[in-house]
Amino acid sequence: MNQLNGQCLCGACKITMTPASNEMHICYCDMCRAWTGVGMMAIQAAGDSITVEGPVKTRTTSEWAERAWCDDCGSALYYHVTAEGPYHDNYHVASGLFPNAGGTKLVGELFTDKRPSGYAFAGDLKGMTEAEVMATFGGEP
Ligand SMILES: [Zn+2]
Ligand SMILES: [Zn+2]
Repeated sequence: MNQLNGQCLCGACKITMTPASNEMHICYCDMCRAWTGVGMMAIQAAGDSITVEGPVKTRTTSEWAERAWCDDCGSALYYHVTAEGPYHDNYHVASGLFPNAGGTKLVGELFTDKRPSGYAFAGDLKGMTEAEVMATFGGEP
């Protein structure tokens, strides 16, 4: 995968990363909707393939993850798995920080049972309910 360079609304936070794949997912869980205003559309990157610079503020939002934003402009930056286990140190970085979402493609939706009626992204998307997300990943919020 090509290296992606992105930044927040004000430009103070800069992210350089090599994504794990050219796919992105959107999550409609209660936290992601409140955090971003819509849902967190994100591109995954391993912890050793991402660099974040700037006034990053983080908040521990569950026993296994934290969320980060720019302390200057408030742009949502990433969801980061802090718990030990198979997903440890994975970053799910907001695709909106990159022009054209870094050239990635939306392939799936998480927490489809929390998706507001009227939201409909195009394409053949794989959907997972809250129960399916919890069963598969052991958690998301
Ligand atoms: Zn900013
Ligand atoms: Zn979520």
